[in-house]
Amino acid sequence: MTDNITGKVIVITGASSGMGEATARDLAAKGAKVALGARRADRLDALVKEIKDAGGEAVAVATDVTKLDQVQKLVDTARETFGRVDVIFNNAGLMPLSPLESLKIDEWDQMIDVNMKGTLYGIAAVLPIFKEQKSGQVINVSSVYGHKTVATGAVYCATKHAVRSLSEGLRQEVKPYNVRVTVISPGAVDTELTQHISEQELGDTVRDLVKKIAVPATTMADMVAFAISQPENVDVSEILFRPTVQP
Ligand code: NDP
Repeated sequence: MTDNITGKVIVITGASSGMGEATARDLAAKGAKVALGARRADRLDALVKEIKDAGGEAVAVATDVTKLDQVQKLVDTARETFGRVDVIFNNAGLMPLSPLESLKIDEWDQMIDVNMKGTLYGIAAVLPIFKEQKSGQVINVSSVYGHKTVATGAVYCATKHAVRSLSEGLRQEVKPYNVRVTVISPGAVDTELTQHISEQELGDTVRDLVKKIAVPATTMADMVAFAISQPENVDVSEILFRPTVQP
C-alpha cells in the first residue's frame, strides 16, 4: 500500500522557518521531493543540505511570493528538477498586528501582498500544470483568524478570510481536472510569526500568550501529511486545529 506521499513533488513557500520548514522536513523524510521557496536563501540552503544529508531530495529557490515571476520560477524549477509538480503548499505569511488607527499602511500592504496575492500567485503558477496533468493539490494556509475577526487583527483576519474564500472558489472550479484543494487554519503555533509585530506592547502581550499555549510547528506537518496522504478521490477540503486551551 502506498502512503500517497512518497515520490510526490511538493512546492512549499515560506519554507525558511516555522511551519513551512517543519513541513518540508517531515514530507522529505516521508519520501517526497520538496522545492523550497522563501526570501532567506541561506536558511533554505541549510535545510536542503540537511534533507539531502538524511537521504532525501530537495531544491531551493530564493522566492519573494509578492513577485509572480519568482513564484513561477520556484514552480518551474521544481518541475525541471523532479519532472512534475503534485502539490503546492502556499504557506508564506505575515502577521504584523496593529490597531487600524495606527495607520500602518505599509504593513497592511505587506499582509495583502504576501498572504493574499502570494497565495494567488502560487495558484497561478501551478494551475496550467495541474490542468495538463489532470491531477494536483493546492494546500493554502488560513488561520483561526480566517474564521473570526479580532481587534488589532482587522487586516490580517481579512487576508485569512480571503484565503478561505479563494480556496473554496478554486475547489469548485478545478474539480473537473481532478485537482484537490485544502485550506488549513491553525491556531497558535510556536514559530517566528509574532516577531514581526511592530507595536511593542501588543507584540509583547501576543508573544507571552502564544508562548504559554502554542503547539509545535510539526503539528502543521502532521495536518499536511494527512491531507496529502488520503486517496486521490478524497479531498480534505478544510482543517482547523488549535491548542486545546485556545478560545
Ligand atoms: P514564520 O514567521 O515562522 O514563517 C513565515 C514564513 O513566510 C517564513 O518562511 C518567511 O520566509 C515566509 N515569508 C514571509 N514573507 C515572504 C515573502 N514576501 N516571500 C516569501 N516568503 C515569505 O511563521 P509561521 O510558520 O507561523 O507562518 C506560516 C503560515 O501560518 C503563515 O501564513 C501564517 O499566517 C500562518 N499562521 C500562523 C499561525 C501561528 O500561530 N504561527 C496561526 C495561524 C496561521 P522569509 O522571511 O525567509 O521570506
